[in-house]
Parts: sequence; structure tokens; C-alpha cells
Amino acid sequence: MVDVLADRVAEMTADEAVRQYAEEAAEAAGLAPDVSRVLDSSYREITVQVPLRRDDGSLLVAHGYRVQHNGARGPYKGGLRYHPDADLSEVRALAALMTWKTALLDLPFGGAKGGLQVDPTELSARELQALTRRFAVSLSHVLGVYRDIPAPDVGTNAQVMAWFMDAYSSRHGYSPAAVTGKPIDLGGAPGREPATGRGLVYILEAFARRYGWDLEEARVVVQGFGNVGSWVARELDALGARVVGVSDVKGAMFNDGGLDVAELVRTVEAGGSVVDADVSYVSLAQDELLTLECDVLIPAALGQCITKANVDRVRAALILEGANHPVTPQADAVLAERGIPVIPDILANGGGVTGSYFEWAQNIQQFTWAETRFNAELRERLTRVFDEVTDYVERHLCTYRRASYAIALERVARAVRLRGYV
Ligand code: NAD
Repeated sequence: MVDVLADRVAEMTADEAVRQYAEEAAEAAGLAPDVSRVLDSSYREITVQVPLRRDDGSLLVAHGYRVQHNGARGPYKGGLRYHPDADLSEVRALAALMTWKTALLDLPFGGAKGGLQVDPTELSARELQALTRRFAVSLSHVLGVYRDIPAPDVGTNAQVMAWFMDAYSSRHGYSPAAVTGKPIDLGGAPGREPATGRGLVYILEAFARRYGWDLEEARVVVQGFGNVGSWVARELDALGARVVGVSDVKGAMFNDGGLDVAELVRTVEAGGSVVDADVSYVSLAQDELLTLECDVLIPAALGQCITKANVDRVRAALILEGANHPVTPQADAVLAERGIPVIPDILANGGGVTGSYFEWAQNIQQFTWAETRFNAELRERLTRVFDEVTDYVERHLCTYRRASYAIALERVARAVRLRGYV
């Protein structure tokens, strides 16, 4: 653990890393330097103070951020993360990733991200609601249906989005389309909650079809068992794949014969950790999970978990990035040398924002879709983007990350030029 932390310090910050990925792709794609200079920094960065009187009478002063990276292609779009490490540098990196992700997926959005530097697991429901309402009001002047639309991310969920939407609506009038990832009773879309995990599976199916893999034979390891990790595990389990390793913040587990995913989901839905589940498993150290031999490794927790400290020990045939920015540039280079393909975050976990786009469009049109239509459109769009990226990879003999960034950058650059920013 000490080694991993020391290594993170030696490696780049998330912000530097995402900028490096973009710079390298811009150079390879021959993007004009003037456009690159516009895309190298954020349009707007807001820091707000969010005070909360706690249940025990003490005062908590949390800090919150909203970074709007680029809005040339449409309203800013991006999640809200509640986590002790959600500082401005991380939020900035995640906002830029959203610009590249929405462009790659060809959605009519720009990129943004928000963060509140708190540990939500230490707050009561009343405290969480009060903090969320104050945060929403502090940011409301830069948000809106056609300005900037938040969604859930690490540490937030549909209930948090409901409070956020209510606080925003109390100032601006009923505005369900101002927030996505809401509960279905408040204008949420059936299919949005599982969309990131399902999207990962649609991408994996497209990969498997292209390269003749049989997913029923696949051994899969998933790091993180929240929204993304639990949904990708249950969807893969339903397809017949063997989920041999999973983890959450409390611990990691392994069963070579396949874990009982349904029981893990039941335990986590009841508020427990995967390690509390009544299933047969062997305990692992957190870092050991990432180095298990498997066909598909799906990091679906926090960023920067595959670094130069552990990359040589990774024994996966394919890495599918469920989390945002789980692989550092140094580790990415080693994986490329070792011939281990990495399907990058901006492609792999794009089901979440694509699902948010469906929810936003339904709210604006006041016309609801059945979940079957939601899933069919999601599969169709993600498969099309996967094929487009793979064609680029095969044409240019480059990594999936380079291809994804190049396609995204060219789209954003076109919009920036057409709007007359440069
Ligand atoms: P979540 O809060 O629902 O779940 C996070 C999970 O990671 C939890 O199970 C937590 O216990 C676990 N975790 C935290 N620290 C860990 C550690 N050190 N080791 C192992 N597990 C750890 O969050 P989420 O919405 O599932 O998001 C997970 C990742 O996916 C994030 O990187 C997020 O940015 C990305 N993402 C989420 C969405 C979405 O729609 N929710 C969309 C795109 C990308």
C-alpha cells in the first residue's frame, strides 16, 4: 500500500494525465496548436463553501467544485462526486474527460464535473440532504437545462439527484431536465441506473464479436461494487461469464469457480459490503485483486489504481475501464508494450452519459420511453462508436485510447472553429 501511494505521488496528477492523453492524440491527429490551447484549460471553474450544522451541533465547512471544461458542442454535462479526495485538480481532470466522452459518443453536450469534498458515509440522511441543497443553490446560477446538467457519480445516487433537482427547481421553477439520474418517480428514465454497467457489457460484446471471444467462457474481475461494478457484474453473470474476483472499499474476494453475484448484490443492496455476503470466497489484499489472472479486468471504483507500481503484475487479457481514469499514463504505456488492450473510460463507461442524454431528452419532450427502447438505443449507439474506434485502431495501428481521443478531439475542434472561438 505504501508503495502504491509513493508511486502515485511520483506519477502525474489526474489533471496532468488527462491533458497528456489529449496532447498526444492532438499531435498525432495534427490538430492546430491554437485549438489545442483552447482545449488545454477549462472554460469556468467554481469553488464554493458549503457549511453544514451537523446533528451533534458541530459545524462542517465542506468545499465544493464545478468545472465546466468545454461547451462548444452543447450544454455542459457531468456527474457530481462526493468524496474526501474530490479536489479541484481531480474535478478538472474529470470535467475534461467528459468533454472527450460526450464528443466521442456524439452527444450534443460539452464536458463538466462537480465534486464535494466530504465522506458521505459519515453523514446522516438529514445532513446529506441539507448539504446537497446548499451545494445546489450555490451552483444554481451556472446550471440549467441548456447550460449545465449534473448527474450521479461516486458517493451520490438517485436520492441525492432528487434533492439537488428540488433545490434547483425551488429557485428556477419545475426543472426535471436540469439533473439526470433521478428516481423514476421524479422523471428518471427506466434503464438509466444500470446504463453504465450495461454499456460496459455492450462494448465487451462488440469486442467479443469482432475478435471471436466467447463471453460464456470469460473469467472476469471487477474492482468496486457500487452502481457501475455491481451492474456490470450482474449483467455479465447473466450472460454466463464467471465473475471470479470483486472488491469494494472494505475488502477484496476471489473464487476460482465463480462468485455468487446475486447474493453479493443482495448484501450490498441491504447496505452491507461484499465481504459481509454469505458466499464462498478467499480474502485478498486490495492490490492483489488487480493482478489476478483473468480475461477481463474491470476497474469500477476510483481513479489511478493501475500504476507503474503494479502494472507489471497485471495478468488480464483485456482491461475495460468502468471507472474514470483508472490507468495512469505510465501504466498505459507498459500495457501497450505488453500488448494488453485497454478500452478507455471515455468509450467503455459511456453508457452512463448516453443514458443521461436519453433521460434529458425524454424530460424535455415530456415523452417517456420503455426500458426496452432505452436499452436497444443504448446498445445500438455504443456498438456503433466501438466499431468506429476499432476501425481507427486498425487503420492507424494505435491504442483504443489514442483512437478514442483523436476522434473526440477532432469533433470538439470542429465545433470550436465553427463557433469562432479561434
Ligand atoms: P459508487 O459510489 O456507486 O461505487 C464506488 C464503489 O467503489 C463502491 O463499491 C466502493 O466501496 C468502491 N471503492 C471505493 N474505494 C475503493 C477501493 N480503494 N478499492 C476497491 N473498491 C473501492 O460509484 P459509481 O457510480 O459506481 O462509480 C464508479 C466509477 O465509475 C467512478 O470512477 C465513476 O466516475 C465512474 N463512472 C460512473 C458512472 C455512473 O453512471 N455512476 C458513469 C461513468 C463512470
